[in-house]
Amino acid sequence: MSSSARTDRPPWAPAGPAGSAYDTDVLVIGSGPAGASMALALATYGVRVQMITKYGQLADTPRAHITNQRAVEVFRDLGIEDRLMREATPWPLMSNTTYCTSLAGQELGRVPSWGTDPRRHADYVLASPCAMADAPQTIVEPILVSQAQVRGAKIRFDTEYLGHVQDEDGVTTTVRDRLTQGEHTVRSRFVVGADGARSKVAEDLLLPFEGPGAVAGALSIVFEADLSRFVAHRPSVLYWMLQPGADDNGVGLGVLRMIRPWNEWMLIWGYDATSGPPELTDEFIRDLAAKLVGTDDFELRLSSRAPWTINHQFATTLAKGRVFCAGDAIHRHPPNNGLGSNTSLQDSYNLAWKLAYVVRGLAGPVLLGSYDTERAPVARQIVERANKSIRDTGRILEALGLTDTSDVARLHERLAALRAAGSDGEKTRHAMREAIASKSYEFNAHGVEHNHRYTSTAVIPDGTPMPEFTRDPELYAQPTTWPGAKLPHAWVTRDGAQVSTLDLGGKGRFTIYTGIGGDGWAQAAATLSAELGIDMPVVSIGPGQPFEDPYGTWAELREVPDDGVILTRPDLYVAYRAAAAPATAHEATAHLRTALTSVLGR
Ligand SMILES: Cc1cc2nc3c(=O)[nH]c(=O)nc-3n(C[C@H](O)[C@H](O)[C@H](O)COP(=O)(O)OP(=O)(O)OC[C@H]3O[C@@H](n4cnc5c(N)ncnc54)[C@H](O)[C@@H]3O)c2cc1C
Repeated sequence: MSSSARTDRPPWAPAGPAGSAYDTDVLVIGSGPAGASMALALATYGVRVQMITKYGQLADTPRAHITNQRAVEVFRDLGIEDRLMREATPWPLMSNTTYCTSLAGQELGRVPSWGTDPRRHADYVLASPCAMADAPQTIVEPILVSQAQVRGAKIRFDTEYLGHVQDEDGVTTTVRDRLTQGEHTVRSRFVVGADGARSKVAEDLLLPFEGPGAVAGALSIVFEADLSRFVAHRPSVLYWMLQPGADDNGVGLGVLRMIRPWNEWMLIWGYDATSGPPELTDEFIRDLAAKLVGTDDFELRLSSRAPWTINHQFATTLAKGRVFCAGDAIHRHPPNNGLGSNTSLQDSYNLAWKLAYVVRGLAGPVLLGSYDTERAPVARQIVERANKSIRDTGRILEALGLTDTSDVARLHERLAALRAAGSDGEKTRHAMREAIASKSYEFNAHGVEHNHRYTSTAVIPDGTPMPEFTRDPELYAQPTTWPGAKLPHAWVTRDGAQVSTLDLGGKGRFTIYTGIGGDGWAQAAATLSAELGIDMPVVSIGPGQPFEDPYGTWAELREVPDDGVILTRPDLYVAYRAAAAPATAHEATAHLRTALTSVLGR
C-alpha cells in the first residue's frame, strides 16, 4: 500500500460538495465489465462515483462475448438492454458450436448451443424476458461507460492505481496520471478494485486465493477475413479444431471464434506456458489461420495478436474494510462457458445497491459484508466449472482412442475410423456423439447461469429447506422464490400489455410482490417506506389487481398463496417471503420491519 502525501488536485477531481471530506463516494478502479457496470449502477442509483482506468482507451480486443440472459437482465434493469441488442450478434446465430478438423475439413459434430436447441429453447425463454446475445467486450464497454458518464459518473483514463490506505472513515487512494506522471490522492468512502486478473488492489488487500494459478498459455489473434462460405450454413460463435498440437494446453483445441458474422474472427491456440509463447510473426499467424480454416485461399487482415494466461484461481475473501474487489480480480479462469464478463457484471450488480444504501445512510455496514458471503461461492463455482470444461474437451480425443494429437499418422487413422464401416467405426461414432453431446455442460449450462442461492445476512430464511433440484442443476435453471434465489420471471399484464415480473422490481428499490388479500402487506410497505426512508413499490398480481396473471404462470411460480408476500432486493433476489397475510396490517408491518431492518443491518 502506498500512502504518499496529497499533492495538487487536478481539475477533473474536484472536492466533494462544500464541506464534504470526500472527493467521491465510491472510487472504482478499472473500466472493464466489472468496473464499468459498477460505475453505471452507482451513477444510476444517484451515488457520486469516479472510475479510473490505466489506459487511454477501453477494451481494444473483443475478449468477452457470450452475454447470457442473466447479464442481459442486468442491462435491462439498468435501462441499456436495447442499446446492447442493437449492436450484438443475435441469438439464433450463436447456435452450432462445431467440432471439426478445420473449417474446410472433416466435421466431427455440432452442439446446438446457448439454448438454441429446440429441446432446450423453451427452458431459456421461460426463465427470462431476455435473449442471449453475442456482444464482444469492444461493444459492451463503450455502452456501459458512456451511459455511466451520461448518468454522472466521473471517468478518468490514463490514470493508474498505485495504492491505498484506509481508516475508519474512508479510503485514500494514490493514483498516477500517466500523461503527466503526476501523482495525487483521491479520498472516497469506498473503493472497488475491478482491475482485472492481475489486480493490484486484490494484491494490496492480501486477499486469499485458492487454485493452482496459471495452468496454460493461449494466443489470441484477431483478424478480418470473409469466411462465409465455410460457416454461414452452420452459424455459430465457436468452431473448434482438432489439429495436431491443438490440445497442447490452451483452451483444449484450436478455436476460431466469430466476432462479426462472418468477416471478423479471433483465433485461439494454446501454448505451453512453461516454455513461453511462440514468436507471433505474420508468417506464423498466417500458417496457423490457414491450418484452422483448412486452406490459405482467403484474404486475411491482421488486427491484433497477444498471448494470455489461462488461470485457475479464485479469491475466498472478496473485500477488506472499505475496499472491495470484483470481476477477474477475484475469479480467474478460461473463457470456456463464457462466464467471466457475465459474472463480473453480476458481482457489481450485487455490490452496487449495497454501497448505494450504505452511502445514503439507509443501511449499516453489515450489509456490505453480504457481498463477500454471497459472491465468494459464485467465484469458486465458475472457476471450477470453466476449468472442468477444458478438461472435458479431452473426451473428444478419448472418443477417438487418442491421448493427444501429437502422432499425426495415428490421428488421421482414427479420424478415418469415424467414417469406416464395421464395429470399430460404429463404436467410435457412438463415443464421438456422446463426447460432443457432453459439451452441453459448456454450451448449455443454463443452471450455472441462473441457479445461485444466496445465504447471508441480506436474506431472511423462511424456515423451509432449499427446494431440491429436480433436474441437473448445472444444465437447467430452476426458478424458486426461496429466500436467496433470484425472483422468477413470469409474463403478467398491466392494462392488458405483457410485462415481466422482473420489470416490476429492481431499479435500485426493494419491491413487495403480493396478491388478492395482501392489503396488509401493501399498507405495511407504505408505512415502512416512510419510516425507513426507502422507496418500496407494491406489486399486486391477480384478477382485478393492478397486474393480472392471465397465463397463470406467476401463480405456478410464486410458491406463496395470493395473500402471501415476496420481498425482493434491488438486485431482484428474494430477501424475504411469507406464506400468508398476518391478521392485521400492524402485524404485517412488524414482520416486514424485522425483515428489512435485518437485511439492511439497521
Ligand atoms: C479470449 C477470451 C474470451 C473470453 N470470452 C468470454 C465470454 O464469452 N464471456 C464472458 O463472460 N467472459 C469472457 N472472457 C472473460 C472476460 O474477458 C473477463 O472475465 C472480463 O473482461 C473481466 O472483466 P473485469 O472488468 O473484471 O476485468 P478486465 O476486463 O480485465 O478490466 C480490468 C480493468 O482494470 C484496469 N486496470 C488494471 N490495472 C489497473 C491499475 N493499476 N490502475 C487503473 N486501472 C487498472 C484496466 O485498464 C481495465 O479497464 C473471455 C476472455 C478471453 C481472454
